[in-house]
Amino acid sequence: MIFFSTRNKSKANKDINCILKGLADDGGLFVPADFPELKLENLVDKNYIDMASYITSLFFESFTYDELKEIYSLSYKDKFQVENMIDIKSFKGYGFIELFHGPTSAFKDMALQALPNFVDKSKEKFSIDKETVILTATSGDTGSAAIRGFESIENLKIIVLYPTSGVSEIQKKQMTTSSSPNTYVLGIDGNFDDAQKMVKAILNDTKLKEVLSNRGIEFSSANSINIGRLVPQIVYYVYSYLELVRKNIIKLGEEINVSVPTGNFGNILAAYYSKRMGLPIKKLVCASNKNNVLSDFISTGIYNRERDFYKTNSPSMDILVSSNLERFLFHTSDNDDNYVSGLMKDLSNKGFFEVNKNHFNKLENLLSGYWVDEKSTEKLIGDLYKEEGYLMDPHTAIGYYGYLMEKEQAKSSPYTLIAATASPYKFPESICSSLNIDCPDSAEKMLKAIENNSNTNIPENLLIALNKEEIHKGTNKTSDIYDKIKSILGVE
Ligand SMILES: *Cc1c(COP(=O)(O)O)cnc(C)c1O
Repeated sequence: MIFFSTRNKSKANKDINCILKGLADDGGLFVPADFPELKLENLVDKNYIDMASYITSLFFESFTYDELKEIYSLSYKDKFQVENMIDIKSFKGYGFIELFHGPTSAFKDMALQALPNFVDKSKEKFSIDKETVILTATSGDTGSAAIRGFESIENLKIIVLYPTSGVSEIQKKQMTTSSSPNTYVLGIDGNFDDAQKMVKAILNDTKLKEVLSNRGIEFSSANSINIGRLVPQIVYYVYSYLELVRKNIIKLGEEINVSVPTGNFGNILAAYYSKRMGLPIKKLVCASNKNNVLSDFISTGIYNRERDFYKTNSPSMDILVSSNLERFLFHTSDNDDNYVSGLMKDLSNKGFFEVNKNHFNKLENLLSGYWVDEKSTEKLIGDLYKEEGYLMDPHTAIGYYGYLMEKEQAKSSPYTLIAATASPYKFPESICSSLNIDCPDSAEKMLKAIENNSNTNIPENLLIALNKEEIHKGTNKTSDIYDKIKSILGVE
């Protein structure tokens, strides 16, 4: 399997180089040149780790199946609250894939427990003697999951940029209490897009990269721009589908819809990859919050980032530039790198791009987009809890809304898997408000109040983080970040 940059398919790249670099030199994202076919009937009985190892071996051929099995065992065993990493809660016509049973209670653990070991083993296996610097922008969940994944990896530093006032108290604590000496957590006075822009600028700074390279230091990324994040995310769609088959909820081969609360378009892209590999997915439902740049794009073909940015109760989706959409545009335009480069140039020069008519028609058949505001999101959480006794976090509730809207619009809907991306306990203020609980004044009391007023339990890792002392304090001016990072790396 070779990988291209979305902006240049004349150059073939090797899997481990893509993982270690994160972003292509031309600013594009690495994508697989084609999609291997899955024989679903042969996978029905595989456990999660075996399935992850198998699917990953189709993409990352530098590793053997046995090596991947070792990596996934190391990454997943004893780190998740449920035996097979994920859980499915099925109701009539739809079900939630709970992806939040890992060490930081959000779905990003699924990939960010594995990626650090891909990086580590790549370097070990191919005797790459470089120090890796993982540079990551986060709207909350990536940062904590990346720190948990990378904090114990040798010969590596991790630097996390987050919007100081754009994450929940618990998300902040999960990051700022890390005492690992290889971890740097920098709050900025901007929003997530500012943080992501900063990361991309540094990853594209050829002069800085050269200085660092001479000292044996190389950047990579833990954001979903790294292809090493995407591949482990394909696994849970395939696994969940087959779990539904095993439970006789659907028949093998039956089409389903997938509804995904979307920010950077990584999770829903992984669902698309699974579809390209043969998973019978009819529609991908892309659900957004008030930052509805994607649902506007899906209905008009115009992606316009020039708009107000809103801070919402689903902060991990407060994004105006969805990086992975670039990959999706590449794959759905028959790998047209020139066309994609042009769109991305328009986005950076004019603030918007428009896909051509042909492409738009194709996207219409694949994707639906809906968005929902904060108040309705909280109402959905309260209503579903009353009806079914199922408690969703605000992000998951947006995915649920996508399912409801698609069912209404399409008049009928196949069984729909909704990605449940975070534990409700990560966003306790919204949950208290949704369940009509008087909101106590501290995060810890809120968690206890939710536990006492629902049929759920507090994930232990959240209580531990709340009770740890903050180590990485304060906020930085976005304009100072470049220098700050250079000083961490010892560069003038
Ligand atoms: C990151 C995140 C999302 C958005 O996922 P993308 O892959 O960025 O689209 C949704 N919900 C939660 C809880 C997240 O942490």
